[in-house]
Order: sequence, then C-alpha cells, then structure tokens
Amino acid sequence: MYERYWQQAGDKTSLLISGWHSMSYFSDVKNLCWFLEPQFAKEVIRLHDIVGNAVTMDRHIVVGTGSTQLFQAALYALSSPGGTKPISVVSSTPYYSFYRQVVEYLKSGLYTWAGDAAIFDKDEPYIELITSPNNPDGFIRQPIVNRSGGMLIHDFAYYWPQYTPITSPADHEIMLFTVSKTTGHAGMRIGWAIVKDKEVAKRMTKFIELNSIGVSKDSQLRAAKILQAVSDSCEPASDSRNFFENSYHHVAHRWQQLRKAVEESRLFSTPEFPTGFCNYTGRLFSTQPAFAWLKCKDEIENCEDFLRSHKILTRSGKHFGMSLKYVRISMLDRDSNFDLFIKRLSEMRL
Ligand code: PMP
Repeated sequence: MYERYWQQAGDKTSLLISGWHSMSYFSDVKNLCWFLEPQFAKEVIRLHDIVGNAVTMDRHIVVGTGSTQLFQAALYALSSPGGTKPISVVSSTPYYSFYRQVVEYLKSGLYTWAGDAAIFDKDEPYIELITSPNNPDGFIRQPIVNRSGGMLIHDFAYYWPQYTPITSPADHEIMLFTVSKTTGHAGMRIGWAIVKDKEVAKRMTKFIELNSIGVSKDSQLRAAKILQAVSDSCEPASDSRNFFENSYHHVAHRWQQLRKAVEESRLFSTPEFPTGFCNYTGRLFSTQPAFAWLKCKDEIENCEDFLRSHKILTRSGKHFGMSLKYVRISMLDRDSNFDLFIKRLSEMRL
C-alpha cells in the first residue's frame, strides 16, 4: 500500500553506500547499544516527538533486526539468568500468532508459552505481551493479568496515526516499534525498542550481540533516511504530502470499501471500534487496523476454506487462539490486489 507514496518521493530517499562505508561491527562505542547508528537513533526520537506516540526522554533505544528480534531480546532480558523452571509468557486471545511460535521454537529453558492471558492464574512471575492496537483484531489493549510480579512487553507496531488515534505518548518499560508497519519497509528488517531500565536495555543488547553481533548498518542508515523523509513531510512548510495524512486517507478509504463489501455479501461481520481524539491529526476517528478480522456467519464452518474456494487467501483464526469461524486479512496489499479482493468479496454468495 505504501509503495506508491515512496515511488512519488523519488530521490528524496535514495542513499549511496560506497564500498568502504559501514565496515566495522561498531557504530557508537559510547552508547549502551554499541551497534546503534547515531543517525538512526536521532531520527527515531525526532519522529516520536513529532507524532507524540511515545516518551523518549531519558530512555534507552535498542535497534533490532525487525521488532521480531527485539521481542526475543526482551524475553531473554526479562527471563535471564533463569530460575528452576521457565517463566510463563502469556497474551490474551486473539494474539499475534508469531509470538507463540517464536516463544516455542527453541524449547528455551528460560521461558515457555502459557497461552491466553485471560485465564492465566498461576501464582508465579510471568511475562505478558500487549499488542495495541492488536494484531489480528485491531482493538486497543491494556495488560489484563491483574497481579503483581508480572513483566510487560508492549508491542506498538500499529500505534501510528494512519491506523489509530494517538491519544497520549505511551510510556512503558519495554515498547517495540518497527518500520514494517510505520512506513511499509518490512524488507529492511529494522525495529527499535524504547526501554526504561538500563539493565534491561543492556541485556537486550547482549542478546543481539550473541544472536547476530549487531544489526545491519546499511539497513539502519536506510531506515534513518526513510524516517527523516517521514518527519520532513510532517513539517508545515514541506513540499511533500504529509506521510501520515496520506496514509490515513488511504487506509480509511479501504475500510469504507471493505465495510460496504461485507454488508453486500451478508456472510461476514467485522469489529466496530470506539472513536478517539487523535492529538497528532486533531481528528476524531475510530481505529482502522492494518488487518481485517472477519467473522463468518453460522452457515460457514471454516471461514479460511470458504474464502480460499473464492480465491481469497487469509489466515485462519485457529493460529490466533480462536475458532475456524474467524480469519485475518491484510488491508495493506497493493491497490490492484486490494481492489480484486473487494470485488470478489462483494460478489460472494453462499
Ligand atoms: N509485531 C506485530 C504485532 C506485527 O504484526 C508484526 C508484523 N506482522 C511484527 C511485530 C513484526 O515486525 P518486524 O517486521 O519488525 O519483525
């Protein structure tokens, strides 16, 4: 969806990296996160200050190969050196399906997947993952395990003004962000964590050192250039279209198309979201998530199979801890694919 904006930005975001550039492992030896490119850190702070979606003052920034690596770094930081048994990791359903796979795949002795946070009742330390707005259903979330001794990881991949009203600067222990959903550059593999506690930030940095000896400098420099272009576009005197305004209208239009198609087909329902005032845009609107969470009507047993038979590929609710009645559909595909999807959905009958 974002490709067109970046094509129109032309050379503003081009970057020349010569053969002798970025050769060392190190970026900033004085920084706790020694592989963090100062230019990238500067643009991260600038963008959060403009949008007002996260507190950055007196916080540590840790860069990662996508927020996926940072999520694992956060698990390591919160669970090591480890006790007699692995610490439970929970998230309320429907949860981002990748979390579970990432927690389980190495059969770690430090942490273990304990499923739905809503039914977690063990009287022991735990780590709760809070994705807000949530993937897959788009709702704003708060921690729900109501006990002390819990450690929280906030995934704010979608806390940007094209998706949801920015109601206040987020201020939590560990907050994860990613260019994948901010600007659409998933292939750059760059994410960042904003971390309050110095020791936690140090251990996250240690994880990334052990895991990949740092994060691609080329990608960080490219990400810095992209974030700079986004921030520049938000300046009042800019000659570029405001990136977030442009993206907001694009997503809003798609949600209108989707709701109309869902109504016409009479086979599905989509969630309704409360409205909120966005301090960044000065606009009152409801969350318009990057994914549509569709529930099919009673007559359809397996929503994923049904949609596949109409040439629409989705991800079944079962991956997110929910039933086969649900599917998740991306709202961020290219225009041509999205239009085809809307056409097929609106013509669909039982
Ligand atoms: N968190 C959430 C909630 C996501 O939806 C995604 C992307 N699907 C990620 C993290 C992964 O981000 P990255 O590409 O930075 O690894």
